[in-house]
Amino acid sequence: MSDNKYVYFFGPDYTDGDGSMRPLLGGKGANLAEMAKIGLPVPAGFTITTEVCTYFYANGQQYPPELKAQVAEAMAGIEKVMGKKLGDTEALPLLVSCRSGARDSMPGMMDTVLNIGLNDKTVEVLAKKSGDERFAWDCYRRFVQMYGRVVLDMKPKCKTDHCPFEDLLDAKKKKAGVEVDSELKAEYLKELVVEFKAAVKNQTGLDFPEDPMEQVWGGIGAVFSSWMNDRAIVYRRMNGIPHDWGTAVNVQAMVFGNMGETCATGVAFTRDGATGKKGIVGDYLFNAQGEDVVAGIRMPHRIEISMAEELPQVWEEFSKVAMILENHYKDIQDVEFTIENQKLWMLQTRNAKRTGFAHVRSAVDMVNEGLITPEKAIARIPANDLTQLLQPVFSGEGLKGRTPLAKGINAGPGAATGQIYFQPDEAEAVWQKDNNAKIILVRHETTPEDLRGMKVSAGILTSSGGAASHAALVGRQMGKAVVCGCDQVKINYKDETVTASGKVFKKGDWISIDGFSGCVYEGQVPTSPSEVLQVLFAKTLKPKDAPIYQCFQQLMSWSDRYRKLAVRANADTPHEAEQAIALGAQGIGLTRTEHMFFDRIDDFRAMILADNVEDRQKALEPLLKYQQEDFEGVFRAMNGRPVTIRLLDPPLHEFVPHEAREQEALAKKLGIPKEKIVQRVKDLAEFNPMLGHRGCRLGIVYPEITRMQATAICRAAVNVMKDGIDCHPEIMVPLPGNANEFKHQEGVIRDAAKKVFEEEGITPDYMVGTMIELPRACVTADKIAENAEFFSFGTNDLTQTGLGISRDDYGSYINEYQELDIFAADPFQTLDQEGVGELMKIAIEKGKKTRPGIKLGICGEHGGDPASVKFCHKVGLDYVSCSPLRLPVARLAAAQAAIADAK
Ligand code: PEP
Ligand code: MG
Repeated sequence: MSDNKYVYFFGPDYTDGDGSMRPLLGGKGANLAEMAKIGLPVPAGFTITTEVCTYFYANGQQYPPELKAQVAEAMAGIEKVMGKKLGDTEALPLLVSCRSGARDSMPGMMDTVLNIGLNDKTVEVLAKKSGDERFAWDCYRRFVQMYGRVVLDMKPKCKTDHCPFEDLLDAKKKKAGVEVDSELKAEYLKELVVEFKAAVKNQTGLDFPEDPMEQVWGGIGAVFSSWMNDRAIVYRRMNGIPHDWGTAVNVQAMVFGNMGETCATGVAFTRDGATGKKGIVGDYLFNAQGEDVVAGIRMPHRIEISMAEELPQVWEEFSKVAMILENHYKDIQDVEFTIENQKLWMLQTRNAKRTGFAHVRSAVDMVNEGLITPEKAIARIPANDLTQLLQPVFSGEGLKGRTPLAKGINAGPGAATGQIYFQPDEAEAVWQKDNNAKIILVRHETTPEDLRGMKVSAGILTSSGGAASHAALVGRQMGKAVVCGCDQVKINYKDETVTASGKVFKKGDWISIDGFSGCVYEGQVPTSPSEVLQVLFAKTLKPKDAPIYQCFQQLMSWSDRYRKLAVRANADTPHEAEQAIALGAQGIGLTRTEHMFFDRIDDFRAMILADNVEDRQKALEPLLKYQQEDFEGVFRAMNGRPVTIRLLDPPLHEFVPHEAREQEALAKKLGIPKEKIVQRVKDLAEFNPMLGHRGCRLGIVYPEITRMQATAICRAAVNVMKDGIDCHPEIMVPLPGNANEFKHQEGVIRDAAKKVFEEEGITPDYMVGTMIELPRACVTADKIAENAEFFSFGTNDLTQTGLGISRDDYGSYINEYQELDIFAADPFQTLDQEGVGELMKIAIEKGKKTRPGIKLGICGEHGGDPASVKFCHKVGLDYVSCSPLRLPVARLAAAQAAIADAK
């Protein structure tokens, strides 16, 4: 940056910035500059950089001293290009807008002021010169209202607060006997301006500013201040946008979509943001300003349906511009435009927010169209979005015999069933009490203030607003099912009811919404598996009949080509193993053997209740048989792929009955006195079970359990090999913190294995390794690696023990920790790289020092989290292991890490 340049100009003849300058100019500013540079029709303007925002907050809301002169110079530049003057009382005055624009777009989260430059004098000139008095006074009343709300902080503070402007507007409509704002005649609008200004004086004690330059500075200050409003902070937290990026401010000449019936304003996507389908879609409104479309108050016209007919010339130019933009940015563009007397002006372009479906489809299509490379396609899709493609849908069986109550716009794909709530803060409160609550938020339209309520809802239903309304844009980006613009439902906030097809539903009643079809159903509609899973698991669909699957599969095959990390699954049964393979698993990274006992819990309990080695040995015999069968099933399903089996881990008290009734039943079944059970339960009780008698501590105290499990694994391996199936068991010791613990268990395992292999005359290729779950294991990893052939990071426990936070009850404070930005993310979902990650690095370095070829993996929940997978790539793990349904996310994230690395 040149010395202290804070203002960047854009216009038809001269533009300072370009599209690459997002960090400095914000997304909107950089793209306005880029559009101006490539010759598209952009009203002139200037961008105040994000550095000014940073300065503003670091210096008690003051601006850098150079800013004033730079803004004045740029304003003169706009006047020159547009041939109009701010505050002109002779000729048509220049009016400007003042808008935010962060590096990553934050739709609707910050503030905007339009029509700056109007005052009691310029409004008269505007009326005279435009020949439309009503238009001029409508602009003025909108301006006073917006300025009052945004700059003078007259927004309602909560949902029940009244907005003085809305109240006055409603009263005026009543007086005039009209239904909608656009029917108010100029004389009423004039009265409204006077009344609005009186409300300003009354509430703030200030006179409404008449000086246009004072208005401009008011707008600039309000936009910078809105960077720190609650909804912007919540949005940044949800989307991982750092608070110190700051926003830019864009001041731009106004053009008018509300100057009569040859004017319009609209928003469009160059491809469908819900499905990714090729072709322009969007909304426009005649005789309106931009915010009318996004606010969803009037029902817009659909571009793809009627623009070619209603505005043929504009359509021709607009469709060309849209294609120029898509080809230029090589991505779906979300554009805002205004038509002033049949002339098209472009006000914004940005890469469109979209659903996971649209992400995958558009990226794959664009590769096939030759617009982008597979690397670009992989890099651009948020890996977590792939889970949307695996979520259940309403289909066939579930919908049988049901008629939709209503149909709206299918704006966010997905099937959602939940209880109706009308107020976002109430929805949030319900969810805070019960995180599993299923909520459908039902509103006339949503606004950015509703973000918290939207976040906790499974689905969103609005009665007005089009495919580009706030509910559609923001809801679908959150991965919610969204049906919007459903005017067949009648919502009554006061009575807390919604009426559809003559039926009245109250708050708390169940409804279902289908974001694929736009249909709304009564009650709870059962779901069926997604298209992808119908092809892969149930095989009820053929790939050729499943277009979403085809795109998914294409993306996965590209990902597999690039990634260096192998992916494995955490799976305990042959069924899960088969599912894992279908979703791309190259092995099993964790079989939790205790899960296999759940079906034979009483045999397992008999073993626990044994109070001497002999009895325990006897009780282990049936378990050996079961475990061997289970392992055989898993080995067969994995067909030669490596399988890591972890020895018994949880504390034994988790398996014994604690209720008197259950204890009695067990005593009867096992033929032992109930008192014996009661006593054993007492003996096993632990004060802090997570740090208690668990993990390898069990196998050390009861080596016969380890021996039984190792024998079962080895016999199972030999048996499948006898059937000609390759088998690579990896036997894993849980929770050692000391090399001697591992050595002890390894000795028991290898003895058991030797015995089986000698008896059977077959020796599979097997390994003995360990979980790394304790900080002490990390710092002594060199010693553990003397015997351990592999490490698998159990980051659930390593997070628990590294942070000293119990994984079972951290829910009571984690929300506050995130709200206060103490934790950027939940450490049990996204790896704490700074702490736990460093422990992992120590273990990797030490482990490799002793055993350079040591196999390294991760099997904690983090193995399916994109940011954590990228970390695992960086620190050189061989594989990540996660639950089967997270595998596509892990594959994509691993490819993204490899591509970023290669750059
Ligand atoms: C872990 O601790 O990360 C792990 C995989 O083991 P579990 O979750 O079974 O304790
Ligand atoms: Mg663990």
